[in-house]
This record gives sequence, C-alpha cells and structure tokens, in this order.
Amino acid sequence: MERGVRWRRGFSAWLCMGRLREEIVTVCCSDIAGQLRGKGFPFQDLPSRLRFGVGWTPTNIMINCLGSIPASPFGSRGDLMLVPSRGGEITIDCGEGQPVERLILGDIFTMRGEPWECCLRGFLKRALDDLEAETGLRMLVSFEHEFHIDNATQRPGDCYAVVKLRGLESFIGDVLGCLRANGLAPDTFLPEYGPRQFEVTVDPALGLAAADQAVKLREICRSVGRQHGHHISFSPVVTRGIVGNGVHIHFSLINKDGRPAGYEAGAPGNLSAVGAAFAAGILRHARALCAITAPSVVSYERLKPHTWSAAYANLADRDREAMVRICPFPEMEGVDVAKRFNLEYRAADATASPYLQLAMIVRAGLAGIRARLPVPVITNGDPGDLSAEERERQGIADLPRSLTEALAALEADTEAMGWMGPVLSEAYLMHKRGEISMTEGTDMDELCRIYARAY
Ligand code: GLU
Ligand code: MG
Repeated sequence: MERGVRWRRGFSAWLCMGRLREEIVTVCCSDIAGQLRGKGFPFQDLPSRLRFGVGWTPTNIMINCLGSIPASPFGSRGDLMLVPSRGGEITIDCGEGQPVERLILGDIFTMRGEPWECCLRGFLKRALDDLEAETGLRMLVSFEHEFHIDNATQRPGDCYAVVKLRGLESFIGDVLGCLRANGLAPDTFLPEYGPRQFEVTVDPALGLAAADQAVKLREICRSVGRQHGHHISFSPVVTRGIVGNGVHIHFSLINKDGRPAGYEAGAPGNLSAVGAAFAAGILRHARALCAITAPSVVSYERLKPHTWSAAYANLADRDREAMVRICPFPEMEGVDVAKRFNLEYRAADATASPYLQLAMIVRAGLAGIRARLPVPVITNGDPGDLSAEERERQGIADLPRSLTEALAALEADTEAMGWMGPVLSEAYLMHKRGEISMTEGTDMDELCRIYARAY
C-alpha cells in the first residue's frame, strides 16, 4: 500500500514533466574573441535581474576562440555585473514545436555600478557619445555579412546562381522572419560568389543599435541554421585559397536632426569636409585598425590583393578592392543622393566583436575630424597592380599581412592605444598574442577548419 502510493506520486510527477519545463533567458556579451558568452536564469526572474544582472569575472574577456586563457592581466581576481540592456532581447522562435531561444545582450558594470572599462558595448557607447558631443554628428550603420553553409549543395558555376537557394527556402524564410521579429529589417539575402557562400544585409540603424543588430544577426543565423541542420560559419576563410567571408561596415554621418552630413556634390569623391576627414582618419590609423577589425590569424588569408577584400590602406570610388569604398547611388532625376550616400569599411570580418570594430572606426574618424585632415588620395584601379614604389609615391600603405604584424602596428600607434586605454589595450594584446601562440605549429588549412567551427 505504502509502496503503491509512493509509486503513484512519482509517476504523476513524471507525467507532468512537460508542464514543468521552464524557459531560460541568457544574458550575454560579445567579447574580445567575438564570441557571445553569458549566464542564464529562469525567464520568470527577468524583471528582478534587470538591476544587478548576473555575476561576471574580468578574466572572462580573456577566453579566446579556442576556449583557452593563455594569460590574463586580471588573474582569478575581481567581480563584475553583466546586466541586461534595454533593446538587447533576442528571441529565436521558428514555431513548429521548436523550442524558443531567449538571449539578452548586456552591459558589464563594476560592483559599484560604473561601466567596466573593458565592456566593449560601453566602449562603443562612449566613442559615439564623444563623436556627437564634439561634432554634433551621429552615424547610421549597417553590417553586411557573408557566411558559409557547410552542407549547402555545391555545383560548378553556382556563383550568384539561384540554384544555390533551392532546398534552403525554409531556412532562409526562418532567418528573415527571426530578423524581422527582432527589429532588424532584412534588405537582401543572396547566393554569393564563393561555393556554399551566402550574404545577408539589413537596413541601417544608429551606431549602437547597428552593432547590437550585427550580434543578433550572427546568432540568429547560427541558431536557425542549427534548427535546420546546417552549420553556419562566418569565419573569414573557410577553405584556404577560396574567396573569404567579409563583414562590410557601411556608414554615413548624419546631424542630430537626421540630415546627411557626409555628402557634398561635386567635391572629390562627393565627400563633405567632415566626411573626407573621417575617411582620412580611418586611413591614417588603418594598420592599427586591422588588429581590431580583422583580428584572427585566418583574417589575413582573406585580406590579400585581388580578392575584392582589402589589402591596402586606400579610399576608392565604387571599387571593391578598396579598404574604404565610396558606395554607388542611383544617378537619376529626383533621387535624394545625400541620403543614400555612404562609405563602406571592408577590412573587417566576424572574428571580431562588432562593438569594438565600430568603436575603433568611430575613434579613428573622430581623430581625423579633430585634425581637420584633408580628403585622402582617391585611388583609381587596383593598388595591387601598382609597383610598391608607385604605391608609396601615392601614399598608399600596405595593410598588415598577418595578425602579428597588425598587433605590432596597433601597439606602435599610441593614439589608437590611447583610445582603448591602458587596461583594455593591454588585455587585448595579451589575448590576441596568446591566441597566436596557440596556433603556432598548426598548418593554415587546419587552422581554417578550426576557425570555421569556432565562428
Ligand atoms: N567576399 C569578399 C570579401 O571577402 C567581398 C565580395 C563582395 O564585394 O561582396 O570581402
Ligand atoms: Mg558580398
């Protein structure tokens, strides 16, 4: 009798299991490794977690994409709070009985409630605030992403071919639906040039929101991909020697009232004085910027001449070999060109945090405005076709050819190091050099395979 009662109780609890399932929400941050890490809690506790979030540790930012912490300036000491941010919600719900995934992007604070100096989202906020305070300018930004689907079908000659989309309709539909449900406005989804390579673009948003959107987009693609049985990789080079995956950061300067500020019809490159100075600032710090925007050993397998990525510190008009490209606009009657005018930073990939990438671009552009830099040389044709002497004569610098070279350029650029501040710059160099030391001795083909899985 006793026994039977106990059995029935246990059995009825077991029967209720379905109803006992709780939803988890994970508060997370995009870190130096460009990975999203965080901690979860019951969804019903979200209101009470909005103030103090979850506990976080400074050394977490030193975890590299290979899952190791070769060195850390913080050691085992210290505590922080990772707090959900307003507008940071990501809900991935593909319906049809699939579980709902809930994430929320967070900001990192010290235990005294001050922004932590190595919180990358906070670092971007300060850069955008400084730009606005000093110049009255804001930025409209859109991150354009290329990626691979590992098990997409591949047949010879399928570059931009519609055949590449067949069989992927439900995956693409769910990606577009989830983007829209999360406040991103899908612009295009296309079968890119490379084998199994695709691209997705979204409408621009204000600086911080655009970086949030880049983080959201990557996770949405990965998560929806997993639900459809695909592994998605944003790694800059999935197969060595084959066209890479870029992140192209489109931006335009606007005044506080939303009026475009970067365009001046008829000026060189149609750039206004601030637009030209901003671009010149980027080129002046180009080599240091690469350490942040293309921050992996495999990034430099992509940034090679004649690959439509970026290999030189140059500005060009409607040319995809440029580091900074002046984008096209319809030249027809009645088009508000100023509104459409934008620049594209092409030396970036998805092994970096979008917050850090955009923050350093903003800092470099602001430095250019402060120094009132004149319009840079607008190159004509592929700089890789010029001799080294000719490039030097035109003032076109080589971009770094390896991460080691890029980190040395960052360290040598005292102004760029100053933007990051002593703690973040030291942590960054230590993190990335530790990652390099772990990759030494592994051949590049194998590294491409490892990074393809990590990103
Ligand atoms: N896949 C190229 C890159 O690595 C870009 C091609 C394009 O312009 O869309 O950046
Ligand atoms: Mg593309």
